[in-house]
Amino acid sequence: MPGPFATHEVFNQPPPLEDVNLFTSDKALLEAVEREGGGEAAARLKAFGSVAGSAEALERGRLANEHPPRLSTHDAHGRRRDTVTYHPAYHELMRASCGEGLHSSVWADLADSGKASRPGAHVRRAGAFYMAAQMEAGHCCPITMTNAAVPVLLLEPGVAKEWVPRVLPFAYDPSFAPAAEKTAVTLGMGMTEKQGGTDVRAATTKAEPVGARGSGAEYIVTGHKWFMSAPMSDAFLVLAQAEGGLTCFLMPRFLPDGSVNALHFQRLKDKLGNRSNASSEVEFAGAHAWAIGEEGRGVPTIIEMVTHTRLDCAVASAGLMRSALANAIHYAEHRTVFQKKLVDQPLMSQVLADMALEVEAATALSFRLARSFDRTSDASAGAWRRVMTPVSKYWVCKIAPALVAEAMECLGGSGYVEEAPLARIYREVPVNSIWEGSGSVMALDVLRVLQREPEAARSVMEELGAAAKGDARLRHAHERIEGLLHEPALLDQRGRLLVEALALLAAGAILKAHAPAAVADAFVASRFGGGGKQTYGQGLERADTRAILSRASPNRA
Ligand SMILES: Cc1cc2nc3c(=O)[nH]c(=O)nc-3n(C[C@H](O)[C@H](O)[C@H](O)COP(=O)(O)OP(=O)(O)OC[C@H]3O[C@@H](n4cnc5c(N)ncnc54)[C@H](O)[C@@H]3O)c2cc1C
Repeated sequence: MPGPFATHEVFNQPPPLEDVNLFTSDKALLEAVEREGGGEAAARLKAFGSVAGSAEALERGRLANEHPPRLSTHDAHGRRRDTVTYHPAYHELMRASCGEGLHSSVWADLADSGKASRPGAHVRRAGAFYMAAQMEAGHCCPITMTNAAVPVLLLEPGVAKEWVPRVLPFAYDPSFAPAAEKTAVTLGMGMTEKQGGTDVRAATTKAEPVGARGSGAEYIVTGHKWFMSAPMSDAFLVLAQAEGGLTCFLMPRFLPDGSVNALHFQRLKDKLGNRSNASSEVEFAGAHAWAIGEEGRGVPTIIEMVTHTRLDCAVASAGLMRSALANAIHYAEHRTVFQKKLVDQPLMSQVLADMALEVEAATALSFRLARSFDRTSDASAGAWRRVMTPVSKYWVCKIAPALVAEAMECLGGSGYVEEAPLARIYREVPVNSIWEGSGSVMALDVLRVLQREPEAARSVMEELGAAAKGDARLRHAHERIEGLLHEPALLDQRGRLLVEALALLAAGAILKAHAPAAVADAFVASRFGGGGKQTYGQGLERADTRAILSRASPNRA
């Protein structure tokens, strides 16, 4: 125990927010998992919530970010090494999340029944992933990519047969060795090049067949990637130009003869946040890779991976928002200012409750989206997934940075220092909006659905219309969106307006149907009541902030 100070006592400071069960202390999460079909995993999620919220795990998160990964390009004698060394805490975080199956659990049925996914699997995984992001967000990158790569691997039977069984074990093996010798593997992806990230068709990396061409064939890949995260992954899904156009490849770190493949890492990015995760610049100096899908089908082939990572961006951002909110409420519950607890100061309770509503909405939207990934055979779920993946990714990831900044302010000066988790969360959150399709790209994706799959958009609008029926303000919001859709000439300019309106309406409808009245009424009144608020703590004069906050408190009895 640290001793007392000689000059003063420490009081009116909160105890650390640690050893809190991230599942049982989070009512919105508990309810979302149950509502969307993951309830039978409650005991397992409770156990993981205890691990992810433990003081030990949070300390590992701090260490993994304070000691970022280091690249070693060559050995002392000039031979290439191309290895990245991580702090042991990073490996422990990976071990915890992979041990929980976050990199593969939704595909577990492939091993026994050959079916792609079991009911509720995405919701259950989302529940644990939401907590893993709170434990430490950077290590979630390889976890997400590994999970999301599986549906792409499945497209080429030869590749699937070899690689899917390696992905499935609930284990983590960080050794730098051929995949066949390892107990578990992780996968990454390389799409972004210097001259084009969003516009991946601008890729200049070339692929030449070794012999035969086409899906499953071996190619030699020459070129670069400007961002390729988790470089110690065992293989990467990579886009390169073959004769027939942009093509998707699986590029392993080791070749079948046990030699190291020609992936030459140039440097690691020095990033704003996400520091525990390595993001490399890499050259492929004649690296071997195997085609997945036919030549020219690169984008349609890899798109399923991208769609899965977008779900994770929304879920992780909602988790990080929850973490920031929990820290803000915890502080306000313990800090006295002008003879009153901060949480009871009217302006502070308005700010905190307003943030809690945003977290409720982000959580509700993310888990509703996860359910649509579980029900791929159901047409309306398919439509929801198609339309609401970019909508949810856009909105949840965009509101997160502002919410975390406000949460930081709730802790005053202590919020701004590195010992508190808020500073790290603040640096972390913007990345979810940038990667896997940034804001405007999400809006463009929604516009693409309207053009090419109008029946999907109609299905979502009908569902939202039915949900909005009982509330005049939601009904009005629905009519407004219908109005936007009926002015297609202006939609290109109004893409973001449309996406935001859809997200808000969907969140409002879910909360109205399922959240306690205090939450639902305050959300609808403050988001659809016509006020022009731009910052937190407005529009809740009539709300039951005490009820909203007692539900959101991490110290809830
Ligand atoms: C930490 C980190 C890790 C990453 N890891 C990986 C990885 O592992 N693998 C990988 O492949 N990539 C990775 N990326 C790259 C990331 O996916 C790209 O940065 C992102 O897709 C944007 O591409 P870009 O940087 O080329 O930006 P640009 O394509 O130049 O886009 C710049 C801006 O323009 C906007 N924009 C683009 N097109 C339009 C349009 N038509 N209309 C309006 N606005 C538009 C975009 O939304 C964006 O805001 C990573 C990025 C980061 C920050």
